[in-house]
Amino acid sequence: MEAGNLYKVLGVSKGASQEEIRRSYRKLAREHHPDANRDDPKAEERFKEIQHAYEILSNPKKRRQYDEGPRTFFGSGNAPQGNSGGVRTGDFSDLSDLFGGFGGLGDVFGRSTRARETSSKGQNVTVSVNLSFKDTLSGVTTRVNVPVEEACGDCRGTGAAPGTSPRTCPECGGRGVRSRDQGFFAFSEPCARCGGEGTIVEKPCPTCSGSGRLRKARQVTVRIPAGVKDGMKIRVPGRGSASKRGGAAGDLFVVARVAEHPVFKRRGDDFIVEVPVSFVEAALGAEIELPRPGGGTVKLRLPAGTQDGKQFRVRGAGAPKARARSGERGDLIVRTRLVVPKKLKKREREILETLAEERDEDIRGELFKKVGS
Ligand SMILES: [Zn+2]
Ligand SMILES: [Zn+2]
Repeated sequence: MEAGNLYKVLGVSKGASQEEIRRSYRKLAREHHPDANRDDPKAEERFKEIQHAYEILSNPKKRRQYDEGPRTFFGSGNAPQGNSGGVRTGDFSDLSDLFGGFGGLGDVFGRSTRARETSSKGQNVTVSVNLSFKDTLSGVTTRVNVPVEEACGDCRGTGAAPGTSPRTCPECGGRGVRSRDQGFFAFSEPCARCGGEGTIVEKPCPTCSGSGRLRKARQVTVRIPAGVKDGMKIRVPGRGSASKRGGAAGDLFVVARVAEHPVFKRRGDDFIVEVPVSFVEAALGAEIELPRPGGGTVKLRLPAGTQDGKQFRVRGAGAPKARARSGERGDLIVRTRLVVPKKLKKREREILETLAEERDEDIRGELFKKVGS
């Protein structure tokens, strides 16, 4: 980051108003927030630049000093011109103005701070895996390609060009945070200069552009348990990205993607199936056979007088319960769909005509009674 470029970093002109600066900063901070750019190792660097520029330009006093030129701004005259290595952002007494009153941005900073706190652990990585209906019933062992970040070999993860090394941040003395007292409270804030890293890199490693990280695809074998549902997340501890600073690797999360089955609809551990039933079967009662999820058949006894849309439960013919080890299963819920023949054979027609004559039923009487006529 170049000291002469703070306006450029925020994408505003030198004469920009405080309001313009604030608006541009909010927009950029959202766009470049590391949480929103997990695939881009440079995002965090950009985000820090933006934060740094805003810290100076949003403060009229610091902005004036900055505009007046490096000599004044650096206090002592020996800082190298145009090199951010000498930029001192002075005291942070007005950081409360910076962090307060932003509404939506509070969240952005909140998460950013948390990310730093846990930054010794590698990043979690989420991938999805497409599963067949059968896979969900029996479980499956599959290999997934996991995009992970690993330490760059050329700089051994330091981000500094080979032959150089990162140096302790002069702003925070390597602590990564700055503290200040305000009345009864002591605040601790991530160091803006080094972004909480405690070190700064002056000559970035060309292989990883100074991030110290390289993206790689790693194959990981994952056991998907029987009973897995669409959208279910399976956690594989320690198979995410490597840690930046010798901490534990992040976790891998595998999200199950299960295509909808044309017949069996999943609801919890149950399956729902709609089964055509003839009006004769429904009227007389019948023992019917239907397909069982995963193969084979299920028998079901329909009582005489079964109505359309009636539900029956076949215990234990549903999906395996993903979290039970006992081999327990959900149920198969059978919903009847009454089917009326579109055509009748001559004999059938005669039987039904006889039935119509003999059966003197007032099927719509109840309807008229309810309407009141
Ligand atoms: Zn490198
Ligand atoms: Zn620092």
